[in-house]
Amino acid sequence: MSGTNESESLRFNEPGRFHTTVQCDGCGQCIHVAGDMITFDSSEVFCYLYRQPETPEEVERLKNLELECPMRALRDKADELS
Ligand code: SF4
Repeated sequence: MSGTNESESLRFNEPGRFHTTVQCDGCGQCIHVAGDMITFDSSEVFCYLYRQPETPEEVERLKNLELECPMRALRDKADELS
């Protein structure tokens, strides 16, 4: 049996640098801070990026959320490439 890859990106994410993964449990913490980029799916089971950051301030907000996400489900592809 193949297990779930915890870094697997949710297919709902807008393609780009940041994404959420199947580890997301839908706690909603990130949406309080970045509701202008992240939203719940229609069942509110998980969240995804519907828009990528466009300014340095928006990137910084997502970088902080990446550290604060309890499930480590918000990822920055720039980290994976370094
Ligand atoms: S903070 Fe993390 S676990 Fe919670 S909704 Fe956002 S991405 Fe998902």
